[in-house]
Amino acid sequence: MIDAAVRNGVQALSFTGGEPFLHTDELIELVHYAGEAGIPYIRTGTNAFFLRNADEAGWEARVRGLAEALAATRLYTLWISIDSCDAAVHEEMRGLDGVVRGIERALPIFHECGIYPAANLGINRNTPGRWEACTPDGQCDPEALYELFRTGFARFYRFVTGLGFTMANTCYPMSVEAAAEPDLVSVYGASSVDPVVSFTGQEKAAVFRALLDTIPLFRPELRIFSPLCSVYALARHYGDGVTTGYPCRGGAEFFFVDAKSAHTFPCGFRGSEDLGPYGEALVPPRGPAPACRACDWECFRDPSDLLGPFLELRHNPFALGKRLLADPAFGRLWCSDVRYARACGFFSGRQAPDTGALRRFRGKEGRHPLDAYQPVPGAR
Ligand code: SF4
Repeated sequence: MIDAAVRNGVQALSFTGGEPFLHTDELIELVHYAGEAGIPYIRTGTNAFFLRNADEAGWEARVRGLAEALAATRLYTLWISIDSCDAAVHEEMRGLDGVVRGIERALPIFHECGIYPAANLGINRNTPGRWEACTPDGQCDPEALYELFRTGFARFYRFVTGLGFTMANTCYPMSVEAAAEPDLVSVYGASSVDPVVSFTGQEKAAVFRALLDTIPLFRPELRIFSPLCSVYALARHYGDGVTTGYPCRGGAEFFFVDAKSAHTFPCGFRGSEDLGPYGEALVPPRGPAPACRACDWECFRDPSDLLGPFLELRHNPFALGKRLLADPAFGRLWCSDVRYARACGFFSGRQAPDTGALRRFRGKEGRHPLDAYQPVPGAR
């Protein structure tokens, strides 16, 4: 499958889960194979279960061995999931006692080996600390939620920086309302109807606004991948119902391959569209023009917005000009994202942060990214 991907010109490959590190040896072998075959952007991640029991004899040698084995591959990014700004809440959610202490002890070892893991936040109601329902039905006033998450995201970024992370990413809540999107069927267990990840549209608008207002404040000290233009597009989608940014390239240039069946799908959530076994005969390097906005899966949505203007400039510069004139705020945020990505070494998890380059994002970048529009009160 990797050989076919190389022939198709695939540039990025992500080994996701479940928990990929349940099969560490096979995972490292596959990462190594893909890198040697010529795929430049390879990423994988973990909940770091193997970092527990950090005081046990042999722990450090085991972790160093793993870090060295990963460093010997061409792995580009390694993410470690963190669900909350409160260590105890995170460990309880994951069922992994002591994992936060293990992560804190392991990060310097990984850094010594030339691997800079990213903290991967899956936004949920426990992100700002233990969730307490705002009303008996569990819903929260959007402005109260905005304040809660704005403080919560700030606490999260401080927390992971304190643990030693130099990079962070955000997964947006993956609850899909069956009534709104009846065609979405998860290929793998990355979505849930559990209240902990279920937000109404109005709540999502508040959460995305909070994220949009918090990221710029922490950009100078932590390499935060989440593009502001993408978060802005989601904030507008759920806030005032305006469609801005780019549709998802899932099924056009990004695909999901199920490791069990080796079948290909447009993404991890369009499970009813089985494209058959992966191979150049079945999956062309480019599919139909992108059009989907059915979910907020950051793996596909973020790069779609970030790469969108480059692709449009190449294929239809007139459409790009029209788009930027229609929503100059999107264009401004996108320009800032591109400059920031460059300052972050394009989020390579194999490079230490360039603190001087990041410091340049102090000041005007961190002011009011939402000033450009006023959400319509009471909008969905
Ligand atoms: S928005 Fe992207 S990830 Fe979500 S369902 Fe559509 S193609 Fe899939």
